[in-house]
Amino acid sequence: MVDRIVRSRRKTLSIHISPNGEVVVRAPLLMPQKLIKQAVMQNSKWISRQRDEYFRRQAEHPPPAFKPGDQYYFLGEKYPLEFTSNSAFSRIIELAGCFKTMTAEPEIIRKRLIKWYRKEAEFYLNERVQNLSELHNWEVSGIKINSASRRWGSCTSRGTLNFPWRLVMCPPEIIDYVIMHELAHLKEMNHSSRFWHEVEKMCPDFNRHRKYLRENAHKFKGF
Ligand SMILES: [Zn+2]
Repeated sequence: MVDRIVRSRRKTLSIHISPNGEVVVRAPLLMPQKLIKQAVMQNSKWISRQRDEYFRRQAEHPPPAFKPGDQYYFLGEKYPLEFTSNSAFSRIIELAGCFKTMTAEPEIIRKRLIKWYRKEAEFYLNERVQNLSELHNWEVSGIKINSASRRWGSCTSRGTLNFPWRLVMCPPEIIDYVIMHELAHLKEMNHSSRFWHEVEKMCPDFNRHRKYLRENAHKFKGF
C-alpha cells in the first residue's frame, strides 16, 4: 500500500499521495517500523480514497500528448495547441489566442513548450516579485526558474527565490500567494505560526489559496 517511506527530523508522521501517484509516508527518524505500519493500517481507508481520487483526476486531466488537441494552462486559463502553416512559427511555439505550432513532432513540441514557459516565467515572475517585494518591504537578490515538480517555490538564505516554470500555469492570485509565501521565508525559514503570521500580513486570504493549490495542483504539472 505504501510506495515510499521518507524519514527526516520531523516530529509527526504524515501520509500523502505524491504528484505521480505514489503513497508516501513521512516519518520521524527513529519511529519504529511497527508504528509506521500501524498508522498505515489505521488510515488504509483514507489512503485508498485518496488514491481513487488521484486516478479520477488523472483521467480528467491526462498528461499532454504534445499534439494538437492538447490544452495548456497559462495564468489559470486553458489554451489549445493548434497547427499553423504560418512560417513565423517554424522554429517556435507561441501563444496567439491559442498555442501555435508548425511542427507535429511531439518531442520538439514538448521542448518548445518548456522553452516558452521558461521565458514567460522569467518575465512574469520577475515583475511580480519586484512589485510584491517593494510593496511589502522585502530585500530580494534575484529569482531563478527551475523545473521542480514537487514544490512551488523555495528560497536561499542569500535572498534568492526559486520557482518552477510551471508556476505560471496557475491563476495570478495563486502565483502572488506563492511569491508572498517565499518572501515570508526570508524571515522565517520554517512553517511555524510566526511564519504563517508573516504570510497573513501580506496575504489575508492565504488559506483559500493554499486550499486551491492542494485541490488543483494536478492541473498545473510540468512535463
Ligand atoms: Zn514554505
